[in-house]
Amino acid sequence: MTTANPRANENASGKAAGAFDVARIREDFPILKEKVHGKPLVYLDNAATSQKPRVVLDALEHYYTTENANVHRGVHYLSQQATQDYEAARGKIRQLLNASDDREIILVRGTTEGINLVAQSYGRQNIGEGDEIIISAMEHHSYIVHWQILCQERGAHLRVIPMNDDGELLMDEYEKLLGPRTKLVSIVHLSNSLGTINPVEQIIEMAHGRGVPVLIDGAQSTPHMTIDVHKMDCDFFVFSGHKLYGPTGIGALYGKADLLESMPPYQSGGDMIKSVTFEKTIYNSLPYKFEAGTPNIGGAIGLGAAIDYINGIGMDRMAAYEHELLEYGTERLSTISGLRLIGTAREKADVLSFVLRDIHPHDIGTILDSEGIAIRTGHHCTQPVMDRFSIPATARASLAFYNTREDIDALVKGIDKVIEVFS
Ligand SMILES: *Cc1c(COP(=O)(O)O)cnc(C)c1O
Repeated sequence: MTTANPRANENASGKAAGAFDVARIREDFPILKEKVHGKPLVYLDNAATSQKPRVVLDALEHYYTTENANVHRGVHYLSQQATQDYEAARGKIRQLLNASDDREIILVRGTTEGINLVAQSYGRQNIGEGDEIIISAMEHHSYIVHWQILCQERGAHLRVIPMNDDGELLMDEYEKLLGPRTKLVSIVHLSNSLGTINPVEQIIEMAHGRGVPVLIDGAQSTPHMTIDVHKMDCDFFVFSGHKLYGPTGIGALYGKADLLESMPPYQSGGDMIKSVTFEKTIYNSLPYKFEAGTPNIGGAIGLGAAIDYINGIGMDRMAAYEHELLEYGTERLSTISGLRLIGTAREKADVLSFVLRDIHPHDIGTILDSEGIAIRTGHHCTQPVMDRFSIPATARASLAFYNTREDIDALVKGIDKVIEVFS
């Protein structure tokens, strides 16, 4: 490609934007060289968890071998070093989400804990008898259950936005659900079972028109698209580090500072308090008010390294490459007779969910596994989605930027084998 400005096609790391060198990128992920049942690993279960680049593994090892200490406590060198790196990771997460203040970034174990925090702290404080919480028909179980428990406890009600046969939310129905009793809207950004990208900006704008705050589940979107909580104007946003090429056990909750200030602590313990006497405890300021006990210091540092790694490649380039791969996969799978894709939204990313004739998805998964191909089978923690499509389960291949067309070809070949076995 020739352009007037030779640097116009380069990203921050100086690589040409056109040439996404996936072979080079795969070198960064040691596990992709593994063999499974004697076959090269084809990892297509990225929506469950992602693989980790060498730089993340190195950051973990470096932390534990050279600076392991507790944070926010010691005057000694290691503790100060650990605190500095832990807080630097918080800053990287803030930048990733385009939040404006480190006080708005609460480090938690992951999406599930982040939602629990909002449900237990904000929810208990603000949701009462007869109030309503709006969720969507494609929420993850970790979402549905928190709100159900809260509703039962408070005498509140769950309202569910339905979807069409392509797996797109019906916005007219959403409009109708928004009412004077609505106290919170809680929506998944990118569905893990269907791949649908929901129109969150519009959803948020409509809720804000009625003064209702919105929580966005970013567990799937954060690894696959550029996130901007400012532009989105969400009130809360949660994600998990392990789906973003970082370690397990670490993630973040973003919340607007004024909301977080007004909320009571979620758990009690060290770090969340400023002073304690037997008469009175004074809570620490943000974000520490919500970070009780010793945090996952190494995990945060590892996640920081994952974010650096992503920034080095460029999320927009990763997303563009994945989109091409998704189109290729959609095209290839569509040619298989008796295969039905579940989730065909116009705005879609990384997920290829399907059913194949009347073959149980578990059998599909088992045969593919014998070929070294890792996919997910089951209801993907979204049973209501399965009910909506009148199926018990799907087989799901989910992509990452280190996957290749060869991975898709291997999947198609594997599915051919499944068909052979069952014919
Ligand atoms: C994975 C996932 C969750 C739960 O994340 P954890 O890391 O298990 O806490 C929630 N929502 C969606 C959409 C997910 O994909």
